[in-house]
Amino acid sequence: MTFILGLTGGIGSGKSAASQWFETQGIQVIDADIVAREIVEKGQPALTQIKDTFGDWVLLENGQLNRRALRDHIFKVPDARHQLEQITHPAIRSAIIQQLADATSSYVILVSPLLFETNQHQLTDHTLLIDASEELQILRASQRDGQTIDQIEKIIAAQMPRAEKQKIANDIVLNDGHIEHLYAKLEALHQQYLIRSKQ
Ligand code: ADP
Repeated sequence: MTFILGLTGGIGSGKSAASQWFETQGIQVIDADIVAREIVEKGQPALTQIKDTFGDWVLLENGQLNRRALRDHIFKVPDARHQLEQITHPAIRSAIIQQLADATSSYVILVSPLLFETNQHQLTDHTLLIDASEELQILRASQRDGQTIDQIEKIIAAQMPRAEKQKIANDIVLNDGHIEHLYAKLEALHQQYLIRSKQ
């Protein structure tokens, strides 16, 4: 069994930066956000289930998911989000399990912004939290994708509080300095994970 590391952190904490560093070390990274998009691609069973549940209007003319229409619907109809998640969550989970099982690197990483919130950490052997102050999260996320401070604060408010994640995570890396500083901390952990992956 391959050692599975769960990697998480709030928006703008540096999850992607950390994931990319692990990839440069030859470690495969499964991104839960990417899996969530893959399972609703054209021809996927979850997309058919969504169409059967909500109606043909959820599809664009080219057969792809009409994300905007579905988002608007969820906003208007309180129960729709729950119905949608009953389809997507199991599909995401089984796709993640499959991709983790297919991984061939020394160990494998599952990166997810909602690792703890969605219980995806149950699929992992060990968890690493990339941690940063809310001020830094807002600064970095706003510089990265031009979202307003208000939008970023809403996302932070919807995620598990930082203090809660700190209690659950096995390892914590505080990403409050230079990026090279982050890489140095990751390097030390990577060596430990390589040892664990051989046990
Ligand atoms: P997340 O994936 O957790 O939302 P990212 O890894 O995308 O966060 O980081 C948010 C932004 O901040 C990115 O533009 C990234 O390059 C930058 N960043 C991350 N860590 C640092 C750091 N230690 N110093 C400076 N910029 C950083």
